[in-house]
Amino acid sequence: MASRPPVMMGLSLPDVDTWSDRVVVALGQNPGAFTGPGTNTYLVGTGRRRILLDTGDGRDAYLPVLARALEEARCEIQEIVLTHGHPDHIGGAAGVRGRFGEVPVSKRPWPGVDERYELPLTAVDDGAVIETEGATLRAVHAPGHAEDHLCFVLEEERALFSGDNVLGVGTTVIPGRGGDLGDYLRSLERLLAERPGAIYPAHGPRIEDGVAKIREYIDHRHERERQILAVLESGPRRIGSVVEVVYAAYPTALHAAAGQSVCAHLLKLEREGRVQRLDPEEPLEATWDLV
Ligand SMILES: [Zn+2]
Repeated sequence: MASRPPVMMGLSLPDVDTWSDRVVVALGQNPGAFTGPGTNTYLVGTGRRRILLDTGDGRDAYLPVLARALEEARCEIQEIVLTHGHPDHIGGAAGVRGRFGEVPVSKRPWPGVDERYELPLTAVDDGAVIETEGATLRAVHAPGHAEDHLCFVLEEERALFSGDNVLGVGTTVIPGRGGDLGDYLRSLERLLAERPGAIYPAHGPRIEDGVAKIREYIDHRHERERQILAVLESGPRRIGSVVEVVYAAYPTALHAAAGQSVCAHLLKLEREGRVQRLDPEEPLEATWDLV
């Protein structure tokens, strides 16, 4: 799950590519509205056995691509590490283990979601260090897009595997279930404090200036919040009516997705006691007002 269709759909990336001395990317073969060119799955390390970070969504076409990446990198899979439990990241894990061997799989637990995948999961959490020859990954818990989300600092490069928190194209979706915009902004601040150089995102191309990109993400969300509050200054409104003002310059095809984004902002502001619902409706249907 990642981003907006028109921005993402036009972009294509090679199936297998080398992005640094210790990072090879194999594309998940799952292009689409929410995944852009597809999920980036990464072989990390320099040795004969490397970490596979994320696994795509489980479609058959991915396995030969991964096989080619392993051949070109002259390596096998040491273990699978997952950024989070959304289907386009965890869904390929069973297939990878079936074809390339029953390697360990680790992620931060997400009770109620992990059980769907029948994987022997090892729990990792904030601060965990996962090592392979030539690469050290340090986990940073970064909830907001998904509550189980881990990002990984690649210590040798001071680079960041950002998962779905920062993307090569488009903007991160904050889903109604498992998402929280306030958490997300705190996560971005935490990732910024790591002062990353490059960012290797879960969707889209490598980002060269990680610090600048994270700042841009934070500024963008703050600007949206200001715009939404400004619209509510003129009186109570439903989300559709906020979207019509704030997203006036965007095609109406994007307005449903924009409504989700406005909703995420309003829920954050509600938690902060700055806006309120005037009726007991679901967040997307309610009339919202300033407190
Ligand atoms: Zn996701």
